[in-house]
Order: sequence, then C-alpha cells, then structure tokens
Amino acid sequence: MKKIIIIWLLTILYSSFSFAAQTRVNGVRIRTSSENTRLVFDVSRTPEYKIFQLKKPARLVVDFNNTKLTGQLKLPKSSAQFITGLRTARRGKNSLRVVFDLQKNITPKSFILKATKKAATRLVIDLPNKNKKAQVVKASTRKIKPFIVAVDAGHGGKDPGAHGQRGTLEKTVVFQIAQKLTNIINKNPNMQAFMVRKGDYFISLKERSRIARRKNADLFISIHADAFSSPKASGASVFTLSRRGATSEAARWLANHENAADLMGGVRLDDKDDILASVLLDLSQSASQNISQLVAKEVLANFGRIGKLHSKTVQKAGFRVLKSPDVPSILVETAYISNPEEERRLKSSRYQYKLANAINKGVVSYAKKHTIAFNTTVKETSHKIARGDTLLGIALKYGVSLDQLKRANTIARSNKIKIGQFLTIPL
Ligand SMILES: [Zn+2]
Repeated sequence: MKKIIIIWLLTILYSSFSFAAQTRVNGVRIRTSSENTRLVFDVSRTPEYKIFQLKKPARLVVDFNNTKLTGQLKLPKSSAQFITGLRTARRGKNSLRVVFDLQKNITPKSFILKATKKAATRLVIDLPNKNKKAQVVKASTRKIKPFIVAVDAGHGGKDPGAHGQRGTLEKTVVFQIAQKLTNIINKNPNMQAFMVRKGDYFISLKERSRIARRKNADLFISIHADAFSSPKASGASVFTLSRRGATSEAARWLANHENAADLMGGVRLDDKDDILASVLLDLSQSASQNISQLVAKEVLANFGRIGKLHSKTVQKAGFRVLKSPDVPSILVETAYISNPEEERRLKSSRYQYKLANAINKGVVSYAKKHTIAFNTTVKETSHKIARGDTLLGIALKYGVSLDQLKRANTIARSNKIKIGQFLTIPL
C-alpha cells in the first residue's frame, strides 16, 4: 500500500515538474480584421517569449523559451496576404523559434490572454494594417448622374410652325430660345442640356422623343410660340400631356395645330401601333406625368414673374411630342407670335434670354424641391465588418442612425451582418 502511494506521489511531482519546465505551443491561428492581422498562439501556459523583426527580407520572429512544439505549425489557408510563409526551428534544447515571412515590415504588438473556461492561454500578436485609414475608412465621393434635359425647339425645316403678322417664324425664334436655354442649363452644377433639333430641319414628333430617350433625358422641354385666330391672345402657357383630353377648347385647338406638324412633314403617326402605345402609356405615364406637372408648375411660376401669363394654371393637352412614357415632358408656349407686340418681343434677344432664364429657374427649383440627386456629390464611406462588430456599434462609431445604416445597406429585419462584409456608411 505504501509503495503505491509513493509511486503516485512521484508521478504528481514528475508531471508538475515537467509542466513547470516547458510551455507547449499547440497551434497558431491567423485572423484578419479591418484594423489588424492577429496571430494567435494557443499555448499551455503563459510563455516566456521575445518578438523581433528582421529586415531584407522582412520577417517577424517569435522566440519561445522553455517551450516545445506539439505537432506542426502551419500557415492557415486564409491567412493575411502579406504573410507569405511560416517556419519553425528548435534553438538549443528547450527553445522554439517561429518565423513569419512578411511582404513588408510591420511593427507588432503582443499580449497574453489568460486561460478561460472555454479557451486555453493565448499569445496574441497584432500586426496593424499599415495605412489603416486608407483600408478601414475609404472615403469615396461618388458622382451622381447629372440631371439631363432635352431641349426641343419646336418645328423646323419644311414645318415653320406659326408665324407673326410681320412674318416672324415660330421655328426660328423657338430655336434661338432653345439655344439660350441649353446654355443656361449647362451652367448649373450637375445638369446637362442638349438640343433635340440642332438646326433648321424637320424632325417628326416621334423622333424627338426617341432622341430624348436615347440620351437618357430626365426631362423633355418642348419650346413653342403660340398662335391664335385672335391677335389679342397673349401670354405664356405651360402644358403637360393629358390622357383624358384637353383642359380647354383652346388647348385642344392648339394640340391639333402642333400635332399637324407631322402630317406636314409627310409622316403618318396614326398607325396601327397607336392602340398598343396608348395602353403602354396608360400604364407607365402616370409617374412621369406627376413629375411633368411639378416641373410645369415651377416653370409657369417663373414665367409669371417676367410677364403676362395666358393661363395661370398648367394646361393639359394631347400633344404627341409629349408622349414619351418614360421621360417627364412639358411643352412651353412662350408667347403669342400672332400678337404683334409679342411677336416683336419674341425676336428680341433680351426677351429670349428672359424666357430661357425663367424656364431654367423653374427646372432648377423643381430639381431642388424634389431632390433629384441634385447635390453635386454625395459623400459616403465604407466599413469592413470585423469580429465583434455590431450594427449599432458601427452606427455609433460613424454617428449615423441605425436606421440610416440599415437603409444604406438594405439590411432586413434580421440585422444579419458577416465578418469581412463591407457596409456603406452614409455621411
Ligand atoms: Zn409650335
């Protein structure tokens, strides 16, 4: 019995002696986060160690005293890109050297994590990502697509449009106004305008909206000068398309008059696909009609500041030129060319500028009020999710609300985020 006890005691002594003598390194793990690359050695107890760097080629050396390696240390497959190799060597009887081959020298920081119920003792070596700012918070300035305006000078070529008593042609004055409007719009930050008709030639009404669509116009403005049987009629009007018919008898008359341009040019628009087209229009135009209505109101308000309005509300008429299902469109009758006083004004360069300015102001105030991506730039930054990150934590870090963060990243109710995922941070 005594013998057994002695052997048992010896065993305890021996094992505790050997435990005290050598630390065991059981493995190494590498984790990358947005801030650093972390090397984690799983060790049997707090080790005696020394870390230093060697240059040319760049290496990180960890020397453990009184330590033995159990098994092999291997570079994990998903290790950081700048760690290119891992080697181990024995130094003397009791020491272990671990060498990491690096692409560049990085100053390490190390600390010990004491054993917990769940994990063994760990030696942690952090290699900070060098250009931390560039990698963690990449402030990007994304240019927003400019607001594109198609400026359509009515008529052209063999279709002169209306004419004044002194022989002024609608196609000529509206072209001059359109040119001025295009130049003015192009001076706005983040707006682009182009002329649909670039000279004195005929274009069908369908072709005009086709050009606008091809150039991804956000808005189509058709410029005209009115004419009426009575020379007394005067003032500007702004029209949007009506599917239900013209708002007034005059609007109906005008719509017929403007639409007749296509017949003059020899192009027949009342072809078979009109039924199909009208069905499509019904489906898709309500959205762009709402926008048209808003722009028209703004333009009309600005016209009211420079001169007489023919009608104080936005008119609706069935102009074919406005029948572009996806491009919000307005038609501006700048003045009555059939009115001798207005004919004279329409020819004046100064008045043409006034008109162009008023239209531009209307478009700009519409864009501002309805926040069509009108700010010249939107600043945002991105955050790579590291272990331990929470949505709320990230939101607090960047001073944005949880809701803003979720909206910017279309995160559903589950709040699920993944390590390594990039989040857009709206600023
Ligand atoms: Zn016209």
